[in-house]
Amino acid sequence: MCIACRKRNLKEFLIRIVKEKSGRIFLDYSKKAQGRGAYLCCNENCYDVLKKKKGLEKNFKCKVGEEIYFNLKDEILNNN
Ligand SMILES: [Zn+2]
Repeated sequence: MCIACRKRNLKEFLIRIVKEKSGRIFLDYSKKAQGRGAYLCCNENCYDVLKKKKGLEKNFKCKVGEEIYFNLKDEILNNN
């Protein structure tokens, strides 16, 4: 389920973001990394909602670096 629009979507249309036990947060391109995962639809609407509502911070309950959002945006632009 996408953490921005709360809709279910096929895995192939979702981007996975993972928080490892160590606290490191990254985009999980393999979609198989260990840790707490969150999904986002691969579209700009969901990205904008996520950023505006600080969705990743809420989901992972910690600070999330700008570079994560930057990488997300990049990934979305590359896939559309
Ligand atoms: Zn979505």
